This record gives sequence, C-alpha cells and structure tokens, in this order.
Amino acid sequence: MTIIGAGLAGLQCARLLSRQGVNVLLVDRKNTLDQKIHTTGIFVRRTLVDFDIPDDCLGPAIKHVTLYSPALRPLELVSQHDEFRVGRMGQLYQRYLQQCLHSGVHWLPQTSYVSHSAANGKIRLQLSSRSITTRYLIGADGARSRVARDLKLELNREYIVGVESVFRGAVLDGPPRLLCFLDPKLAPGYIAWIAHDGEETHLGVGGYPSLFEPTVALQNFRSRVEGIIDLRKAKQIEARAGLIPVGGVLRNIANSTGLLIGDAAGAVSPLTAGGLDPCMRLSAFAASVVTEYLSTGDVEVLQAYSGELFRSRFASRLWARRIAATLRQRQLLEVGCALLRVPVFTRLAHHVFFGRGSFPDVIPRQLCLKSQELHLDPGQYHLR
Ligand SMILES: Cc1cc2nc3c(=O)[nH]c(=O)nc-3n(C[C@H](O)[C@H](O)[C@H](O)COP(=O)(O)OP(=O)(O)OC[C@H]3O[C@@H](n4cnc5c(N)ncnc54)[C@H](O)[C@@H]3O)c2cc1C
Repeated sequence: MTIIGAGLAGLQCARLLSRQGVNVLLVDRKNTLDQKIHTTGIFVRRTLVDFDIPDDCLGPAIKHVTLYSPALRPLELVSQHDEFRVGRMGQLYQRYLQQCLHSGVHWLPQTSYVSHSAANGKIRLQLSSRSITTRYLIGADGARSRVARDLKLELNREYIVGVESVFRGAVLDGPPRLLCFLDPKLAPGYIAWIAHDGEETHLGVGGYPSLFEPTVALQNFRSRVEGIIDLRKAKQIEARAGLIPVGGVLRNIANSTGLLIGDAAGAVSPLTAGGLDPCMRLSAFAASVVTEYLSTGDVEVLQAYSGELFRSRFASRLWARRIAATLRQRQLLEVGCALLRVPVFTRLAHHVFFGRGSFPDVIPRQLCLKSQELHLDPGQYHLR
C-alpha cells in the first residue's frame, strides 16, 4: 500500500503499518524532511505521555502561559505539570523516517503524487517519476489534499494561515513560556504567539487569510513585542508558514480505494488549531483499520473509518471557532480578556490551555473483543 505525504501523519501511519508487517511505500515531494517545515511543533502533555516521541527531538518543558489582551495586559496561567514541549521537527521527522526504514518501509523522496485510477481492485498511481500499482492509498498530503480530491472524498473548506520566524538567542526573563496575544488586527480569528523554551523562540501570527496580510502582520507583531522579548542579538534560523484547516474533522474520509489522515482529513482542533496530537491518534486508528482491511479484504471494515465518529466531540470547539471568527473589535476582546480575570473564567482559560481534551482515541474492534470488562459491542468502534 502507498502513503502520500511524510509529515507527522504519514510517518506515524507508515511506522505503525510496517510494524504490523504491511508492505508500505512512503512518497513525498520533499527531498529531505527537515526542509520547509510548516508547524511550530508544540506538543501537548497528552501526546507526550501517550506516544514515543524521542526526548532529544523535544525542547525543554513549558508550564507557564501568558495571555495578552489587545492592550497588552497580561494574564498569567501556570500549570502544576509540564504541559508543552516544542518539537525539533526536522530532527523528529528524520528519526521517524529512520524507524520506518528500519521496519521495512520503502521511501520515495522528491516524488510528487500526480493522479490515480482504480479498476478491478487495483490502483494505478501516477507519480512524477514513475507509475506503480498499489493495493490501497493513504492521503497524508496536508491541508489542500490532492489525494482527497482525486478520491472524491471531502475537502477542507475553512482555513487559517499561520506564519512564523524561528530564532536562537532571544532573551526573555523567567522560565520557558508560551505567550499568546489576542489582537484582531495582527491575528484576526486566532492568536499571535511567542513560544520560548529557552533554546528556541518561535514568533508567529495566525488568522483568516481574507482578513490580514500575514507577513506584514508578523513584522508588526515583532515591533509590538519589542518591550517583551529582546531579539536584538537573536539569529533567525528558519521561516515557516502554512494553512491550518479549522472546519473540524471531515465526515467522508475513506472509501474502497483510499483514506485520509492528518490535515488532509481536517483532523485539527478548530479552537486551538493544534493538529499534531490528532495526527498521531487518527493515524493510529487508520493503521489498525487498514491492517484489518488488507488482511481480510473486507471493505466493510473501512466504513468504520468515518469523521462522523469524531465530530460530536468537536461540537463545542466548532462553536468556539465560530465565535472567534466574529470577534474583530479590539474593545470587545479587551472586555473578554478582563472577564478572564474572574476566577470562573480563569478556570475556563486554564482548561483551554491545560485541559487534556484533545483528539479522542478510537478503541479498535480487536481490542473491544478482547476486553472483558468493557462490554463493548464488537461490531463498533468506541471513543475514549
Ligand atoms: C504555522 C503553523 C504552526 C502550527 N503549529 C502547531 C503546533 O504548535 N502544534 C500543533 O499541534 N499543531 C500545529 N499546527 C498544525 C500542525 O502542524 C498540522 O496539523 C500537522 O503538522 C499536519 O501534519 P500532516 O502530516 O497532516 O501534514 P503536513 O505536515 O502538511 O505533511 C504533508 C506532507 O505531504 C507532502 N505532499 C503534499 N502534497 C504532495 C504530493 N502531491 N506529492 C507528494 N507529497 C506531497 C508534503 O511535502 C508534506 O511533507 C501548525 C500549523 C501551522 C501552519
């Protein structure tokens, strides 16, 4: 089977499938995976606890968050736990690729997916360098997935755009921290951020592309935070940018020819725009479904792989996204930020930043069957 895209979703899925003995071809248009990274790489605690992310591919832990109002009034939030770590993403992608190769994945870099056709249970894939036959196709090709379009599956429709600069040598007093700035001009519908873990500093803005000019906003943001972080001696080591789908997990993400994972499936939290945890969990679910499908040949197995399974869990976050999209007045946001100082709302802010409610796990059928105490219907998948 073939996976198009070796971002976090494609790599995670390829690792898991190959460990199950599935013959996997992993294709990416990039030459090496540490190029053109388009994520800040902030991993949340739940992901760090549940998955094997190598320690040397992560920066120091962060437990402090400062939320700034449009007038730069700070609200400090501190967790008892190490909540976030910024991934050294180039290194992590390379490490996961090494693990894939070790378990037998065939790797085809610098190769683009072009098109495919399916007939008599075989899929003919047209790649930029060659054409091949494969048994099943996985689209891990990001927010604007060409594979999704060709498979006639659902497409992402709502996006925010994020741009950031990565620095070494920035000076910010105090412990490692995440600084989030609510400002409808600099980041309409989302936030501007500084993620500073003491080694690396990511300074970025995100928002609806029709409402701002991201690179100009990033420059203005840098000037605006001059009094907060000292970048005079800092060296910019990277510039990153990308689209983030925020319409929630798509419903129709699988058919008998292929399925979607990661951003291609819209698997991103509509509120926080975090997509790394969903990449890990949805890819794990996809790997279990595909392994079962390839071993049984039963297409009904694929019906379980539906975004409907997840959408109800995201209802409140989709509403929050609708509200965030309409908050364009500075005064209104300033009042909202003042309200966050009232203890009940401070707890809500705590929950948004430090809550463990990211992407649900799916308990696959095989596990349900084995689990005596769960009393689950073996015909269904369940969320945890
Ligand atoms: C600026 C920014 C900051 C972010 N920060 C965070 C964060 O801190 N924490 C968090 O949880 N989430 C964050 N996100 C979201 C998160 O990064 C994404 O949800 C996640 O990286 C998606 O991974 P993916 O593997 O699905 O897609 P991608 O990482 O986009 O990988 C897709 C891969 O497919 C390849 N590809 C595409 N088309 C083709 C083709 N036709 N042929 C061959 N290869 C192809 C690409 O080269 C790429 O390697 C951020 C997003 C952005 C844009």
